[in-house]
Amino acid sequence: MPFRDIAGHDQLKPRIARAALRGTLPPSLIFAGPSGVGKRMAALALAQLVNCLAPLNADDGRDADACGECASCRRITRGVHADVVIVKPGDSGSIKIEAIRDVIERAAYRPFEGRRRVVIIDDAEQVVPGAQDALLKTLEEPPNGTTFVLVTSLPEVLLPTIRSRCRRLRFGRLAPTDVAGVLRRSHDYTDADAHAAAAFADGSPGRALEGATEQFVEARRAALQLLEAVADHPPPARRIMGATGLPGGGRGKVDRDALAQSLRAVATILRDLGILGARADERALANADLKATLQRLLRSFDNDRILGGFAAVDRALDALDRNASPKIVADWLAFQV
Ligand SMILES: [Zn+2]
Repeated sequence: MPFRDIAGHDQLKPRIARAALRGTLPPSLIFAGPSGVGKRMAALALAQLVNCLAPLNADDGRDADACGECASCRRITRGVHADVVIVKPGDSGSIKIEAIRDVIERAAYRPFEGRRRVVIIDDAEQVVPGAQDALLKTLEEPPNGTTFVLVTSLPEVLLPTIRSRCRRLRFGRLAPTDVAGVLRRSHDYTDADAHAAAAFADGSPGRALEGATEQFVEARRAALQLLEAVADHPPPARRIMGATGLPGGGRGKVDRDALAQSLRAVATILRDLGILGARADERALANADLKATLQRLLRSFDNDRILGGFAAVDRALDALDRNASPKIVADWLAFQV
C-alpha cells in the first residue's frame, strides 16, 4: 500500500518519502505509536518506494510515492518480494532468537531483486531479550543496502541500547474523520457505522475494527436520545424517559459494559459540542456525521453545561465501577446533564 493510501500522518509520510529517495534515511528506524494507526503499512510503503520501478514524483520529493502497480510494488503487496522481510511474533506471542538470527543472516547478502532490502520487525517489543542483543550488533552496523524498521506501540520496552541505535519516528493518533474514512473506504462500513465506530476508536482504525460496531451504534443512539431528551431542561418524568434508552435505564436486561459504552458515547457528544461551541477544527469531531443534530443541541448546551456533563459522566462511570445499580446510574445521569 503506497503512502497516499494510508490515512493521516500528513507530516510524517512526506518526510519519510523524501529522505528515502535522497538516501538520507537512517538505516535503523523505529516506527513508534499507538497500535492500529498504520505504522506497519507505512513501513511497507517505504519498502515499496525504495524498490519501485516507476516511482511517482520522484523529483520533487514531497509527494514522492511508489507507483503501487509495477512488478516490485505488487510483489511487496502480496508479501512475496525477496528483499522485503517481515518478522512478527509467532504463536507464542514472542519473536524468538532463531527468527532474528535468520533475518540477520539474510541481511548480510546484497538484495536479490530490489535496490534495497527492508527488514520490518512488527511488534518489535516482543523480540525476546537475548534476540534483542543479537539484533543490536546488526543495528549498529547495518549491512549496505538494508534498512531495518522496528514497528512498535511500546518502544520503551525495547532495550535502551536498541533505542539509541535507531532513529525514532512517532506516529500519532488519527483524527476521527480520518478513522471513519478508513473504515468506509477499506472496510465497507456505512457512513453512520464508520462514524459510530470511529468515535470510540481513540484515533486508531485498528482499534475500531476490533470492536463490535453494532454496540457502538447502539451506544451512540442511546446517548443522543438522552441528551436530546434533557436538552431543554424538562421536568423529571421526561428526564427519566430520556434515560430509558440507556442500557439498564429501561426494563431490558442489564448490561454494565453496554451502559459504560453509552456513557462514553455521551462524553464524545459533549466533547463534540465543546468543539463546535469553540469553533475549533471540525476534523476533531468524533461524530461528524451528526453535525446537524449537534448544532441543534448546541443551542441548549453552553460551556458550563458541557463541563458539568463531563464531570457527571465521570462520576457515573466511577459509580458503575463500584458496582452501583445501572438503573440508578442511568437515571442519576439524566438529572445531571
Ligand atoms: Zn512500483
